[in-house]
Amino acid sequence: MNKTDRFHGQQEGLYLVVSAPSGAGKTTICKRILSLFPNLTYSVSYTTRPPRPEEVDGRDYHFISRQAFEDRIAGGGFAEWSENYGYFYGTSLDAMKEHLQHGCDLMLDIEPKGARAIKKNYPGGAFIFIMPPSMDELERRLIGRGFESRENLLMRISQARDMMGEYYWYDYVIFNDDLNEAVDCFRSVYIAEKSRRVRWEDRVGRVLKNRT
Ligand code: 5GP
Repeated sequence: MNKTDRFHGQQEGLYLVVSAPSGAGKTTICKRILSLFPNLTYSVSYTTRPPRPEEVDGRDYHFISRQAFEDRIAGGGFAEWSENYGYFYGTSLDAMKEHLQHGCDLMLDIEPKGARAIKKNYPGGAFIFIMPPSMDELERRLIGRGFESRENLLMRISQARDMMGEYYWYDYVIFNDDLNEAVDCFRSVYIAEKSRRVRWEDRVGRVLKNRT
């Protein structure tokens, strides 16, 4: 059995919800994990935020207007949505269902308000919080990314601190002290979640009936 079908035989996909303050290294860790597991797909959110220069519509986000976003809310199109920094962000309910029903695993990169809504409405996922090594290191990383003014930097630090206060209801915390170790830890969480007995009931049943 090769890497691609390690979890062959599971009928429903697993979703992983990942949150972290900006500067914790979430994007790098998630990209590394996605490259390791072909059955794990990144959930592309909808947003009203304008694209950044390196971002591609349909790959990083579906960039839509505020009106289109509001229409989708009214039509029940989101599994969750929230407003961050003046822009709307939401997870498509159809895309989520479609992936999971076809046995694809999904990685949702969403902030804690949306994550909480998913936890409440769609039980069964794994919730992972990525922490920076320390507040000092987080501040250094945020400064390194550039900022508009001192007030803007202080606001971002305070937002990061607030977000980190939500860690307590997640299932897993991964400290990003060292990138390779953090990726290793994330990988272990994913494999362990996929190995839960309840996910193998169908296959075990077939084996026991000798129908493989
Ligand atoms: P950014 O604008 O930097 O890409 O993302 C800002 C924040 O929005 C991040 O904390 C990210 O996790 C969050 N986010 C991205 N997509 C979604 C989504 O679909 N729903 C929610 N609730 N938050 C999202």
